[in-house]
Amino acid sequence: MGVALEITRRFPHLRLLLLEKEDGVARHQSGHNSGVIHSGVYYKPGSLKARLCVAGAAAMVEFCRQHGIPHAVCGKVIVATHPDELPRLEQLCERGVANGLAGLRIVGPEELRELEPQASGMRALVVPSTGVTDYALVCQKYAELISAIGSDIVTSARVTGIRRGSAEIAVETTQGVFLTSSLINCAGLYSDRISQMAGDDPGITIIPFRGEYYDLIPERASLVRALIYPVPDPRFPFLGVHFTRRISGKVDAGPNAVLALAREGYRHTDINLRELAGSLSYSGFWRMAGRNWKYGVGEWHRSLSKSAFVRALQRLLPQVSGGDLVPGGSGVRAQALKPDGTLVDDFQFVPSGKILHVLNVPSPAATASLMIGKAIVDMAAEMITT
Ligand SMILES: Cc1cc2nc3c(=O)[nH]c(=O)nc-3n(C[C@H](O)[C@H](O)[C@H](O)COP(=O)(O)OP(=O)(O)OC[C@H]3O[C@@H](n4cnc5c(N)ncnc54)[C@H](O)[C@@H]3O)c2cc1C
Repeated sequence: MGVALEITRRFPHLRLLLLEKEDGVARHQSGHNSGVIHSGVYYKPGSLKARLCVAGAAAMVEFCRQHGIPHAVCGKVIVATHPDELPRLEQLCERGVANGLAGLRIVGPEELRELEPQASGMRALVVPSTGVTDYALVCQKYAELISAIGSDIVTSARVTGIRRGSAEIAVETTQGVFLTSSLINCAGLYSDRISQMAGDDPGITIIPFRGEYYDLIPERASLVRALIYPVPDPRFPFLGVHFTRRISGKVDAGPNAVLALAREGYRHTDINLRELAGSLSYSGFWRMAGRNWKYGVGEWHRSLSKSAFVRALQRLLPQVSGGDLVPGGSGVRAQALKPDGTLVDDFQFVPSGKILHVLNVPSPAATASLMIGKAIVDMAAEMITT
């Protein structure tokens, strides 16, 4: 939606149509996430993720402020609980500095306790610019602004086919056929499928990973002041359960990451056999699983066993117990995977004639959405206007 907003702002004379298969916006990743305004500390300096996240976080805070959307720049602590993690904590701090973040500092256990009295660790990286908001509200506002400028959002319109003509592209949907001169595919969990519908080879397959949360019961929410994260494994920065005090004040713990049995499979029981077969028949999936099966087993264990989930959380917050946690929501990540089993790390935008495919926009894409919109429109300006 950030892309649509940017197009309407930059080219108000153009007629833009946003097609959405659900009956409203933000029903999937953008409305089922942790609500964190990421600072950009994790990402490789110079990568699109790093650049668009750092600028995007500032733009998101400003957008929320301008439009009265609840948000808070509450900061977060990344806590090392094992000596092995100390060098990685230092590296993370260096990365953050290289990415231009202000105010980063590494603190010892006493100062950590001043910030997060219940957290326990050897050392912690304090990241002051991290914040929280509600991205479902952000998307609602994007939709309002897009409509106010005069563009159309057509909901309950699932794209079912794309035909490329010499002058026009025909987009077949459950609401009829729409003709357009150019098209941008921002279909999240189905971006690879839309690319195939357009006759392109996306070169990746989207594998859906469900992230499950527990909520701290309200009487124990005071265990967490803001955000408490573990030191990430550089190979899987999105793994590692953590605590987030959401903008609503609710504290959640998680998410983990397990293979979802449907692309929009928010529960264990949501199964789509065709989509599951698609994941399981993909060579890249087995190559990735073969190399990382230990992580996979750990994630499934934490998914099926609450006590295993609680043990992972207790590394950061020893006081937390199973009785403090109740099952919370879940989200499904669209993870682009190459045939050789490599996870596509950076954002990936692939032009194909008068179509642009947004094939990989994982976290922190909600944070960076305004800047992703600008980057994509910069890339596609000629395609859109000619
Ligand atoms: C569990 C989880 C936690 C996360 N936490 C954070 C966080 O704290 N901070 C952060 O910055 N990022 C976070 N992210 C990442 C962020 O939410 C996503 O990267 C971002 O929302 C992706 O936006 P999108 O528009 O590409 O995808 P989506 O929001 O999934 O939107 C794609 C849209 O395309 C529509 N669509 C699909 N197929 C069709 C079709 N055939 N026809 C018509 N419409 C179609 C879908 O219905 C959907 O509305 C998280 C993600 C997850 C899953």
